[in-house]
Amino acid sequence: MFERRRTRQIHVGKVAVGGDAPITVQSMTTTKTADVEGTLQQIYALAAAGCDIVRGTCNEAEAAEGLAQIVPRSPLPVIADLHHQDKMALAAMEAGVHGLRLNPGNIRRPEHIKAVAAEAKDRGLPIRIGVNGGSLDPALYEKWGGITPEAMVESAQQEIAYFDEVGFDQIKISVKASSVPLMVEAYRQLSEVTDHPLHLGVTEAGPPPAGLVKATAGIGALLLEGIGDTIRYSLTADPVEEARAGRQLLEALGLRERKNIDLIACPSCGRAEIDVIEVANRAMDAFGEREIPLQVAVMGCVVNGPGEAREADLGIAAGNKRGHLFVKGRNVAVVPEPEMVDALVEWAEYIHEHGVDAAIARADTRLAEREAARDRSILLDDQGADANHAAEKIVEIRRVAGGRRQ
Ligand code: SF4
Repeated sequence: MFERRRTRQIHVGKVAVGGDAPITVQSMTTTKTADVEGTLQQIYALAAAGCDIVRGTCNEAEAAEGLAQIVPRSPLPVIADLHHQDKMALAAMEAGVHGLRLNPGNIRRPEHIKAVAAEAKDRGLPIRIGVNGGSLDPALYEKWGGITPEAMVESAQQEIAYFDEVGFDQIKISVKASSVPLMVEAYRQLSEVTDHPLHLGVTEAGPPPAGLVKATAGIGALLLEGIGDTIRYSLTADPVEEARAGRQLLEALGLRERKNIDLIACPSCGRAEIDVIEVANRAMDAFGEREIPLQVAVMGCVVNGPGEAREADLGIAAGNKRGHLFVKGRNVAVVPEPEMVDALVEWAEYIHEHGVDAAIARADTRLAEREAARDRSILLDDQGADANHAAEKIVEIRRVAGGRRQ
């Protein structure tokens, strides 16, 4: 339909960005990152709404400590959003994030920028250079007489030059502004001077519907010109609305489609009771090409699985050699572990034909919830409260975050 501009490809966790990879949808959590359970709940809701990559703020040591617990349990790759402190970048990497976002207007000292890039290079992590019109370096503001496309592009190029000095090239770039014409022109100019993948967005677009219109105008215009590898709607709204809008825009432009099962699986962590990858692969095979446009979750444990994936239409979580089926977060049935995949397919077909409410109505939810609670407490007794050894990472984060000052 329209030719996509060729960019290099990087990876954020398992998600490819740039090159011939599908254009991805991003969003940002609005919870305090230190609120591990609340943030994970939001991440699962975002995944259910079509989000591919999530970003969380890492503005203080407690946030980095939260990330150490969130990352192993997140179904989406997690990017840490950095503010003014370079040491938070180091703490976030210690926490195990899949990428960083740096704002050149905030972390300005070249030695700090290079130190972060060198560490990211050692760890094989990508960084987004997130230029923002509102926080442009005052020197560039002065040079260009305000926030102009040229000033924003030069800000990105300065940062790339610092990264080049330490041989770091796992980069994606954004040049966001709240003015649609300004951001469109900035991205156009940027796409002429770099082949790094571009992250599109209209910053501070505001609440819907005006915010949706602005973001769609800016992002849509650029996508139609073949510019852009990943997108984010920045709305003053529940981030689920951002993810949904991003997904819908890509589907409307014919850039993404969902006809079949959208299978999500937890990444597996110290709590996993099954080989999640193996069960997820078997489920993918079992669903095959069936045209069932539902979201189905395979979760490694009943301790957190049903809650984390409560936005999925249907899911199954392992626990105590049994599979606990849940529909929209409600426990509906328990099956022996070897029957997990068959049960998933059978329930998916039922929901597809009769709907979620009918599926819940046919279940003995009280019995299923009681059994799930039983297996959950058996697992907690066996594994303890810190199955992911986050406490050890937190000790290291405190050492890193409490050290060097900017
Ligand atoms: S095993 Fe449990 S806690 Fe770990 S990521 Fe999977 S569902 Fe979450």
